[in-house]
Amino acid sequence: MDLSRQYAETLDAQDPIGHYRARFYIPDTELVYFDGNSLGRLPLATRERLREAIDREWGHDLIRGWDTWIDLARSVGDLLAASVLHVSPGEVVLSDSTSVNLYKLAAAALDARPGRRVIVTDDDNFPTDRYVLEGLAATYDLELRVVAADIDEGVDPDRVAAALDDDVALVCLSHVAYRSCAIADMVAITTAAHRVGALTLWDLCHSAGSVRVPLREAGADLAVGCTYKYLNAGPGAPAFLFVREDLQRELGQPIWGWFGRRDQFAMAPGYVPADSIDRFLVGTPPVLGGYAALEGARITAEAGIDALAEKGARLTQYAIRLQQEWLGTSLALASPADPARRGSHVAFRAPEAWQICQALKAAGVIPDFRTPERLRIGLAPLYTRFVDVHEGMTRLRDVVESGTYARYPAQLGRVT
Ligand SMILES: *Cc1c(COP(=O)(O)O)cnc(C)c1O
Repeated sequence: MDLSRQYAETLDAQDPIGHYRARFYIPDTELVYFDGNSLGRLPLATRERLREAIDREWGHDLIRGWDTWIDLARSVGDLLAASVLHVSPGEVVLSDSTSVNLYKLAAAALDARPGRRVIVTDDDNFPTDRYVLEGLAATYDLELRVVAADIDEGVDPDRVAAALDDDVALVCLSHVAYRSCAIADMVAITTAAHRVGALTLWDLCHSAGSVRVPLREAGADLAVGCTYKYLNAGPGAPAFLFVREDLQRELGQPIWGWFGRRDQFAMAPGYVPADSIDRFLVGTPPVLGGYAALEGARITAEAGIDALAEKGARLTQYAIRLQQEWLGTSLALASPADPARRGSHVAFRAPEAWQICQALKAAGVIPDFRTPERLRIGLAPLYTRFVDVHEGMTRLRDVVESGTYARYPAQLGRVT
């Protein structure tokens, strides 16, 4: 392979979605940002939209703003449904955080399968998912059946299938694994879950905006995901939830808030759930975060998931090639080698990963460290260029070859 920077520049020149980078606020051009899978960059349109929302809508319109704000969660949901998740309007809504949505939908699923006592997940699922499910199992005295997953290759559908029986109410997994980026076989797992009469709940945090999500092909029941990663909606932006249309009236959620009630503004006595996805809402939605999610969804929709997924695969493949050429003896690939089996980030393993991560940050490259011994590199396809990969991997090689990382503490910090 051509290892020159010129080659990376050629790849950028031929990139059909390369021009989207200019739509982002990038004040520090020396910084190599490999963390768009944790917090996406700020779109220029969002900066404008939020300024306007603050000055004109909040500042001037005040409470009158609710005439338009009230529909925001649904409009963003519909946009995500059409362009990011490929499901129908009315099946997705913006609401709360991923953790809270996971709780609401998992509880709704358990309620819809009375008498069944088992929740299935995997031991490498994202921490909040494992904790939320653990809490539900403790509250309702259920069994949390935890399937062992390979931390680099992801969850094996046969192992999940082997854990299923008629006592299983819910199977809850991540579609793209947060550490290795391995894609779970949503179709096979959902089919197996349905065969025993269980419902499926998918966490799409690392999928939404980076890969095609086969909710429809799989016949998946429920899903949640955040908007601040590949959807670029900013820190703490509201999450989304998906409930398949034919399940909406069958499922009830545990938090009976006024935004989930039919005829909310009748302020009537007693809770009657809305006849739509609105029943999964709880309270007053975050409007500023909602606008940021709207702009983030718009730019993602415009670029198109297929183009984003293809570029993500090429970027990660390019990073892996450079790692093999330059760092093959010091770092090992800790993600699936087949690009069709990964999303838009890639993990490398080294015993000194935490120290390398700190040294890399000091060298102006922002990756993530993840236990155990993983350096995670997020290559968000909307604004990451091939030259960024070349530059970041060059600095990584320098840090590793020079041994400067050894100066950094081996002890983990509070935030990694
Ligand atoms: C980022 C992430 C979350 C985050 O949940 P929050 O409620 O927003 O903190 C959940 N699940 C997965 C798989 C994630 O990657």
